[in-house]
Amino acid sequence: MSPDTQDMDLVFFGIQGSGKGTQAKRLAEDSDYYIFETGGELRKVAASGSELGNTVKEYVESGRLVPFEITMQMVRKAVMAQLNGQPILFDGMPRDEDQMVEFDSIMEEAGRDFRCIHIVLDRDEAVERIKGRAKIEGRADDADMEKVNRRMDTFEEKTMPVIERYKEAGLVVEIDGSQSEEEVYAQLKEAIEYAENISN
Ligand code: AMP
Repeated sequence: MSPDTQDMDLVFFGIQGSGKGTQAKRLAEDSDYYIFETGGELRKVAASGSELGNTVKEYVESGRLVPFEITMQMVRKAVMAQLNGQPILFDGMPRDEDQMVEFDSIMEEAGRDFRCIHIVLDRDEAVERIKGRAKIEGRADDADMEKVNRRMDTFEEKTMPVIERYKEAGLVVEIDGSQSEEEVYAQLKEAIEYAENISN
């Protein structure tokens, strides 16, 4: 990746288990992106022990979307703090249409441009991967299949329409997430070069 193709922010989409988080972390290690992992940031708030943290914890642990105001205030703060020219890679944001409207407005306010990458994976395969990940990472929201299914329902019902809207705007590049981690990563790097050349 050449430095001049890194000016654009990226928004990663993918069903839970699609490898989105793993790929985002790899890319952040290999490049200049500042990774904003929404779920991870919310888990940090949840661990703080504050009143806000306890509220967030209830949502995260049950696999429900954290309320709009809490989430979007956190995103706004993170975007506004990142005005040093470093590109941002958003993982897990926006997740529904209300968040999309607010996200678009924050990005416009901050003068930031972005492109989207969707790592596409069949739900059944995603479920199998999550079961494996739960054993390794010990995340409470991965271990309970009812919660996993709830998060996947949310992805299909609320996040897919967001991806469709961005797709209609010509901002999305899709990657086949059923390939090996290496193959997905190679395609991802190509997709970024391509995505950054899509003009508005
Ligand atoms: P993830 O690791 O992306 O599956 O996120 C874990 C949990 O964090 C989700 O089940 C939600 O409770 C919360 N979360 C992550 N991203 C968002 C978001 N954009 N809006 C609201 N809640 C979120």
